[in-house]
Amino acid sequence: SSAEIGHMVVALDGERCDCDRHGCLQSVASGPATLRRAAARRGGEVGFDDLRAGLDGREPWAVAAVEESCRALAAAVVSLGEILDPALAIVGGGFAAGLPGFVPLVAQRARRAGRPGRPAPPVRPAALGGLSSLHGAVELARDLTGTSAPARPVPIA
Ligand SMILES: [Zn+2]
Repeated sequence: SSAEIGHMVVALDGERCDCDRHGCLQSVASGPATLRRAAARRGGEVGFDDLRAGLDGREPWAVAAVEESCRALAAAVVSLGEILDPALAIVGGGFAAGLPGFVPLVAQRARRAGRPGRPAPPVRPAALGGLSSLHGAVELARDLTGTSAPARPVPIA
């Protein structure tokens, strides 16, 4: 079967994924997972608009929830960089796109985790049109808002 980046394990003791394993990328970094974490920290329900407002206001519960998702995605970027050496890592989905600063934070965390001779690939939002035209890019998350649609890589040129 094809690679499913959404089920790449980034935290062995992480949350349970809908595939029944713990710590898959999508179980940590998906939109629903981020909102669940934010709600647990806040002690009440958190919708997307709440999260966005919380981020704008630098609320600790919102910042921490998003930070954890961005760190998980950065871990995936760095690991895929070691294996595939992609020219670019693309973070897609409405969740990431709807949160200003989300993709730049993933990029920053990934940059910090690079090593000499093997820097992390640049991270960009999927706002460039057809992904199929991006040669050498790895698509990290097609849609972070969904838990049932695992991310798929595009062919590495
Ligand atoms: Zn999984």
